[in-house]
Amino acid sequence: MDSRAVREAMVQKLVAQGLQHPGVRQAFAATERHRFVDSGLVAQAYEDTSLPIGWGQTISKPSVVARMLELLCDGRAERLGRVLEIGTGCGYQAALLSHLCREVYSMERVKGLHERARENLRPLRLPNVHLIFGDGMPGFPSGGPYAGIVSAAGGQDIPAAWLEQLAVGGRLVAPAELAPGRQSLVVVERTPGGYVKNVLEAVLFVPLKSGVA
Ligand code: SAH
Repeated sequence: MDSRAVREAMVQKLVAQGLQHPGVRQAFAATERHRFVDSGLVAQAYEDTSLPIGWGQTISKPSVVARMLELLCDGRAERLGRVLEIGTGCGYQAALLSHLCREVYSMERVKGLHERARENLRPLRLPNVHLIFGDGMPGFPSGGPYAGIVSAAGGQDIPAAWLEQLAVGGRLVAPAELAPGRQSLVVVERTPGGYVKNVLEAVLFVPLKSGVA
């Protein structure tokens, strides 16, 4: 499939919706989303829609991924340092992150998805992406401290371990159900004086679950 034109059209739509960061744009233009979904869904791969990836999970729609990555980069043109991703899923966002930061540590609690992501990413040869099978709730201390932490799954609150592993000057972007039945996108910045939390728009991500499956 020569997907360049259709991918470029997707990027143009994201730009029309407000995507500004040049690095995020370039990452979307360079990453073939159709490689990360089942063959039966390839025709929909560049639509702004979430798609099933098996094990009851979904790959987020491109506009939501763009929003998260733009918040993570916070207008900075330079590459981020180490970034922790919670919820590798099919590996698509990890591939995007590989363009935006020096090292990506991506954790997935479902073994089958972890293995699927490894297969999806292998042909891309991204030496700075490290896939970890395990529960991401306790974070991954040995890769930190992190310039960025991004989660594709939302719990009741932001786990304390993630905040601890965030570097001073770092940013965390994650969904959380801060009020019952209402999941919101949360951004936390770690400043020399402490943590600054901002609650943004309502979102709908899969639940953050503990343990492995
Ligand atoms: N970024 C992914 C999105 C996957 S959906 C992609 O591009 O495909 C969110 C993922 O989070 C699911 O695969 C789910 O299994 C995973 N997840 C949920 N709770 C988790 C936890 N505690 N640790 C690691 N992964 C978790």
